[in-house]
Amino acid sequence: MSNKRFRVYRKPAPGRRDSKKSVDDIVSELKSTSPRVTDYRERSLKIHGLICAKCAREFDYKDRYLLTVHHKDGDHTNNPPDGSNWENLCVYCHEDEHSRGLLGDYFSDEK
Ligand SMILES: [Zn+2]
Ligand SMILES: [Zn+2]
Repeated sequence: MSNKRFRVYRKPAPGRRDSKKSVDDIVSELKSTSPRVTDYRERSLKIHGLICAKCAREFDYKDRYLLTVHHKDGDHTNNPPDGSNWENLCVYCHEDEHSRGLLGDYFSDEK
């Protein structure tokens, strides 16, 4: 039972691997910034209905995956619960909306 005093402490060499630290950074970043995408999507569909705000095409429950949520101000972290920043757009109109170049990168963030 006296093994305890022979216990060897292995300290991880500090500053030896910078990459280790950045993994933590990335993880905490992901946790803090990952938007709860499906949450606001469902809410927007509920508020605005299963209809494209642009071409007025209507969707069924089963093909609502073709309907996406567009952020009017282009800020996908701006998700007011009343849906005032959301617009339900079908994938075609949504792509069109973003193909103007302004928000090309941003499109990939949306669902
Ligand atoms: Zn449309
Ligand atoms: Zn959009």
